[in-house]
Amino acid sequence: MNDVIQLTAAELAARLTAGEVSSAEATQAHLDRIAAVDGTLNAFLATDAEISLAAARDIDARRASGESLGELAGVPLAIKDVLVTTDMPATSGSKILEGYRSPFDATAVARARAAGLIPIGKTNMDEFAMGSSTENSAYGPTLNPWKLDRVPGGSGGGSAVAVSAFEAPLALGSDTGGSIRQPAALTGTVGMKPTYGGVSRYGAIALASSLDQIGPCARTVLDTALLHDAISGHDRHDSTSLDFAWPSMAAAARSGADPATLAGLRVGVVKQLMIDGVQSGVQARFEQALDLLTAQGAEIVEIDAPHFEYAVAAYYLILPAEASSNLAKYDSVRFGLRVTPQGGATVEGVMSETRAAGFGAEVKRRIILGTYALSAGYYDAYYGSAQQVRTLIQRDFAAAFDQVDVIASPTAPTTAWALGAHSGDPMRDYLNDATTIPANLAGIPGISLPIGTASEDGLPVGLQLMAPAFEDARLYRAGSAIEQLIADRDDAPFWTQAPELDAAFLATAQTGKATN
Ligand code: GLN
Repeated sequence: MNDVIQLTAAELAARLTAGEVSSAEATQAHLDRIAAVDGTLNAFLATDAEISLAAARDIDARRASGESLGELAGVPLAIKDVLVTTDMPATSGSKILEGYRSPFDATAVARARAAGLIPIGKTNMDEFAMGSSTENSAYGPTLNPWKLDRVPGGSGGGSAVAVSAFEAPLALGSDTGGSIRQPAALTGTVGMKPTYGGVSRYGAIALASSLDQIGPCARTVLDTALLHDAISGHDRHDSTSLDFAWPSMAAAARSGADPATLAGLRVGVVKQLMIDGVQSGVQARFEQALDLLTAQGAEIVEIDAPHFEYAVAAYYLILPAEASSNLAKYDSVRFGLRVTPQGGATVEGVMSETRAAGFGAEVKRRIILGTYALSAGYYDAYYGSAQQVRTLIQRDFAAAFDQVDVIASPTAPTTAWALGAHSGDPMRDYLNDATTIPANLAGIPGISLPIGTASEDGLPVGLQLMAPAFEDARLYRAGSAIEQLIADRDDAPFWTQAPELDAAFLATAQTGKATN
């Protein structure tokens, strides 16, 4: 494996600044990697080498002319296909948007470009971000590089795999109920859902607007923080965007790199998040992480959050209700696909045939559920009650954060499951998010970072940390300290072993297709 692609974003940025490598070289190395492995992994839905290399050469030229550039200038960035860009398609994983091109850039993308990042492609995802495995993509599943018969999590499996498999050092994701954090956990990477409103949603294809949040993915906590800094901040195009003077997340990550900073940190463990069905190896790694924290002088506090057990139920009313409304705009007139029925086209006929052909099963299921929940006579019973439960969950969090600085849980109750294992039983997917959904309902930030592999299957386990709204920096500080402790542990199974992992999937990739 080419060593440029093994560098973290921070390391690559330092080499770019020092002139030891050019952005064109770094971009080409990642494009080569994509060409070599992505026929197997299917993390990318679109790449355009010419566009990416032109952007990279532009940064190289500006650097050569002495222009002062952002810290990440010249570093490649993968972009979840939920974000629109002017120079590549955006499908949100759906057939209904096949071929769609946006006339504008999503704000997160525009800011990334302004910071000098090089968009390297659009990543695969569950259709309209509905799912936990990326198997709901209309363009085929993404495979998990840790074991090719496993899902990478979802909905942002493509972004997580892009960074996990060294196809990109950085990626953008969206998290409505866990779609950044859960794939991070299942692929051994880091993913952050910022405070609701911390990163603009302008140009993010909406799933459930009161829950959706754009955020960063990477292989290290510092890299995640650097990307967070590049994309966050107030945006007048997004009415829910916060006008707040955010501290530097990268500075927080750097200050946390010393595990001694964990002394005195009060860490809450919510009884209701230690749900039945947590896999034994996940539980073991979680307890080990708590032990590492305790050894540094952190205090573990058990927390009761009685309404968390209703979080999944409330989420699966609020999300479908908002999604059914957001997805009404795919009417065959304004965007993408249009199917004309045989034997005469009426307006209703074209719309219903288009939606029947363009949406997949999970999207239809949620539109039906959401439309029902919002219908006259049922609104109060379903959507209204779910919103009340949401308030109770927010109060549980507020009470918890009176006692603790952060809340810790396993990011997901299991490691990556086999492709197809949940087919026909969407509830199994829904329950995999029981631990991530509460943060979206409350609008608070949450991060997932790798804490080792499960002994029974050798697959990555993630630790989730949550903090009160606006305290994103606290997660980077603590996350970075924990990352350091894990790296120091004798059995740390992470990126040091990646080349071995690589041999397995490269072999498959080369037999699977002849790209280079
Ligand atoms: N898996 C969850 C769902 O299907 C989360 C999705 C997301 O965060 N976009 O709704």
